[in-house]
Amino acid sequence: MPYLSTRGAEGVSAPEAIVRGIAPDGGLYVPASLPALTKADFDAFAALDYPARAARTLSWLLDGFSEKELLAMARAAYARFDDPAVAPVKALSGRRFVLELFHGPTLAFKDMALQMLPHLMTAAARKTGEEREIAILTATSGDTGKAALEGFRDIAGTSVTVFYPQGGVSAVQEKQMVTSQGRNVHVVAVKGNFDDAQTGVKALFADADFRREMNALGKTLSSANSINLGRLAPQVAYYLSACADLLSRGEIAWEEGVNVCVPTGNFGNILAAWYARRMGAPIRRLICASNRNDVLTDFIRTGVYDRRRDFHKTISPSMDILISSNLERYLWELAEGDCAQVHAWMEQLKTEGAYAVSESAKARMRACFFGGFADDKATAASIARVWRQDGYLSDPHTAVALAVLEDYRHDSGDPTPILAVSTASPYKFSADVAAALGVSVSGDAFDAARALEDHTGVPAPRAVKELKTLPVLHTRVCEKGRMGEAVLRGFA
Ligand SMILES: *Cc1c(COP(=O)(O)O)cnc(C)c1O
Repeated sequence: MPYLSTRGAEGVSAPEAIVRGIAPDGGLYVPASLPALTKADFDAFAALDYPARAARTLSWLLDGFSEKELLAMARAAYARFDDPAVAPVKALSGRRFVLELFHGPTLAFKDMALQMLPHLMTAAARKTGEEREIAILTATSGDTGKAALEGFRDIAGTSVTVFYPQGGVSAVQEKQMVTSQGRNVHVVAVKGNFDDAQTGVKALFADADFRREMNALGKTLSSANSINLGRLAPQVAYYLSACADLLSRGEIAWEEGVNVCVPTGNFGNILAAWYARRMGAPIRRLICASNRNDVLTDFIRTGVYDRRRDFHKTISPSMDILISSNLERYLWELAEGDCAQVHAWMEQLKTEGAYAVSESAKARMRACFFGGFADDKATAASIARVWRQDGYLSDPHTAVALAVLEDYRHDSGDPTPILAVSTASPYKFSADVAAALGVSVSGDAFDAARALEDHTGVPAPRAVKELKTLPVLHTRVCEKGRMGEAVLRGFA
């Protein structure tokens, strides 16, 4: 099954797409065709554990990998999760369900893919004849950096260097990063903001001299960002897994199906749900939930994507995004594979800040997607309501989804069961969750976690408690113009 670039017709294999990350023409790799699953495939899933479900999903999506080798990778990737189901589905009242994706080492859904990606990438490198070490460079505003550090930690043939803005991430996020263990991990604070760090990393990828120096050290650069096919494909697995669980437990009927509501930033997670639907999963509507950065809500409602608006910092920071990079894959679908059209929209976004899709594309999008948003006030109210009514503790990102699904049901009258996706542990955002429940907190994030635990009786994950006492292992700081030297120094 070849992968095509959204901006050109060239087809590559899955291993090549994973090693490259982004296509040479700047496009994203999309599958030229998708498998057609039947109810029997979901029945068969019910007897498999999560790693086996993930391996089978990936064998359907990625050519060039055997199910057996994928299973070995998935067993290694998901061994460190703190729930035996890896991605359990919990029931709330009113035929609402929650798919929990935060049981990995960094307590956010990025682990579902970033624990798997290093295995896929090293195998893909071998298959494409790449013998150099893969040096991952990443700039982070918080969650992705730590998930990449944990994913690539001690994976042979790789190293990972994460740059974060000094003073620009939360205290817990900084603590998570500077205490990272592993022989091949490097963490550097940049004197600048996130954009400086991001721009610096992009400049290194484009710097021929820097690449030559890395090559002389036997290293080739790669990135772990969310447009990599090796991050998208593992995310499809949990949607198929959740549907299989709901069917086998008799919570939903095959004919009736389920709506899926995803708290969205870069459009990666919800795109995986769309692929699952396209492959034949019994998923009906996809509900795209945003915070006050509601660019996707407007796009789904009007067919106009317009990033010319104020950027809001919210209590769901991983969704504070105005340019949803993975949307390009869905645009390719809306354009019915017309790469020139996709390219034109992306150019318009860059130069004018906006583009509009055709009326027929808009109608097709609206038949599948519903867009809604919740501001911080509605998000906090959602945390409190779900705790009061269902005894379920949700983090602010999850609470955005739980708020928007109520709006959807109210607006549409659609009684179909809904699966809301939970993307982070409430204990990753203890202070905001405690505040939403009216729990008064003084002190740091760890005090907030303790207060929240006392108030709710929901145990905090061990990873949160351990973090407080872990030793700091990374103290390097660099000027924003000297990130290349910082990378090289890490290998000295
Ligand atoms: C990254 C992230 C999201 C957004 O996911 P996208 O794939 O970018 O849409 C939502 N919630 C949390 C906690 C995240 O870390």
